[in-house]
Amino acid sequence: MYYSNDIIDEVRAQNDIVDVISGYVKIKKRGANYTGLCPFHSEKTPSFSVSQGKQLFHCFGCNAGGDVISFIMQYENYSFSEALNFLAKRANIQLPESNESNRHINDERNTILQINKEAAKYFYNNLISEEGKSGL
Ligand code: ZN
Repeated sequence: MYYSNDIIDEVRAQNDIVDVISGYVKIKKRGANYTGLCPFHSEKTPSFSVSQGKQLFHCFGCNAGGDVISFIMQYENYSFSEALNFLAKRANIQLPESNESNRHINDERNTILQINKEAAKYFYNNLISEEGKSGL
């Protein structure tokens, strides 16, 4: 399923990373960032850090990191679109349905791309052939 950058940005913007992660990990504000025990490796001193300003998380212990979508992917073991669906639902955002008409448009697009590729190959081969010398 293909999602536009606009809808991905929208989902990201409507799911504050601190809000989302505090639902899974106990994090405390320390300076500009929030820190807590990393959920991706076992540790006793917090090296897991969440930046609200940058909307990113990072673990200095195991190097896990990313944005709110990749947190959900890693924590829930979701694919990108599963994580996107999960977060869209959380923020009451309606994602475009992957319905038949969308698939139809995609098929048509692929066919046109394929035709263009074949045509380009044909013209290119003509151009580099003996007959195409003057054109080249
Ligand atoms: Zn870690």
